[in-house]
Amino acid sequence: MDQKKIGSFIAARRKDNGLTQSQLAEKLGITDKAISKWENGKSMPDLSLFSPLCDLLQITLNELLLGEFISDESLKEKSNQVLLEVVTSWLGKDQWEIKTSSQMSTVLKLKNVKKIYETECTSTVAVKDVSFEIAKGSFVGIMGASGSGKTTLLNMVATIDKATSGQIEIDGEDIAGLSENDLASFRREHLGFVFQEYNLLDTLTVYENIALALTIKQIPKVTVKRTILNLAERLDISDVLNKFPYEISGGQRQRCACVRAIAANPSLILADEPTGALDSYSAKQLLETFVMLSREYSATILMVTHDALSASYCDKILFMQDGEIKASLEREQESKQDFFTRILDTMAKITGGVPYVS
Ligand code: ADP
Ligand code: MG
Repeated sequence: MDQKKIGSFIAARRKDNGLTQSQLAEKLGITDKAISKWENGKSMPDLSLFSPLCDLLQITLNELLLGEFISDESLKEKSNQVLLEVVTSWLGKDQWEIKTSSQMSTVLKLKNVKKIYETECTSTVAVKDVSFEIAKGSFVGIMGASGSGKTTLLNMVATIDKATSGQIEIDGEDIAGLSENDLASFRREHLGFVFQEYNLLDTLTVYENIALALTIKQIPKVTVKRTILNLAERLDISDVLNKFPYEISGGQRQRCACVRAIAANPSLILADEPTGALDSYSAKQLLETFVMLSREYSATILMVTHDALSASYCDKILFMQDGEIKASLEREQESKQDFFTRILDTMAKITGGVPYVS
């Protein structure tokens, strides 16, 4: 439910009905302040006031909870949407998702994946024999020193590069079996990218950049707008939606790239050193965004990083060295600080006490 939208709707309907805040308050037997709070989107009317409020504003309950008029043609669709939102907020999103989707389903599965780069006189084994699985809703980090094969691995999962041997399954689909044409649409349907070069188009506004990703997927315009405005608010970029990418900060650009990556609700979000070009404050914000996305939206994220602090935001970390996964670490009921310390310990063990340098 969009409290702000509901608030403005209440205000507009109150005025349409020729009522001041005090008059409405008096009719409902509550304070002026309560009305003002609703109208500013700061609180919702009490359940017991829903009915009398709807009568006074001459709207239906569905319209109140949606915050807009519902025409007869869209009644069915909108009513369902309202009902779903109400049930979701009532049950709590987490519980709701456990009940409705197989939350522990595997989104990504790698089996004995290998990549050899052949040039005329040399062959480099960039990835040796990597196998792992990622469950829906998890935030997984891949750590390793420069040259350990992280980007190669991510590019294979991104379907940008082909594995020499082994299997990569995304949403149960073996990507080796897809043609170039199929791959392009597979990428659009299933994957979201947050790479260091933001790849936002400079001739489009932030809003248009994000909308573009959704338009390609043929999502209706109203849904596009709703989705973008909601996510922009969550990621704190509402104020820059009408600006061009070169008019905003690096951190804001990265968060825009995040909104773009997740707006289409991809099965898997891939991020290669996403904080590499950010100052520490923006980096922290981006990482917290990833955590929020995985917790609240069940987004599945695979992030490559060489930085232990960034990795400490993840649920699980895979440590790569010389093209192999040498260790993995799962976050337990512990603080970020404790997890960070364990990450450093594991890194030290793998590298024989020599700390990582990029
Ligand atoms: P990381 O991202 O961990 O720094 P990369 O995946 O970029 O590591 O590289 C792993 C190894 O593969 C390195 O030895 C690198 O030189 C080699 N490599 C990466 N890309 C290519 C390529 N296109 N051709 C040949 N060798 C490559
Ligand atoms: Mg790299």
